[in-house]
Amino acid sequence: ATAKLDESSPQAAGLGYKHDATTVKNARYAAGQQCSNCALYQGGDSAWGGCPLFAGKQVKATGWCSAYSAAS
Ligand code: SF4
Repeated sequence: ATAKLDESSPQAAGLGYKHDATTVKNARYAAGQQCSNCALYQGGDSAWGGCPLFAGKQVKATGWCSAYSAAS
């Protein structure tokens, strides 16, 4: 299985990624946003899934980063 992204890693920190979106302190964050409803999330209904911004890692469905893009 693909490794889970370490939120304390430089890659995660660089995009302000957190496993728990509700803990995010970022001007771009809006309540309700999380990986599972981001256009880039590849995990479908799974608790963890891929994201092209973090190649080779899985992000959490409840996570968030500053590249969040609302799914249409
Ligand atoms: Fe999550 Fe979207 Fe950021 Fe990827 S781009 S980590 S799916 S919020």
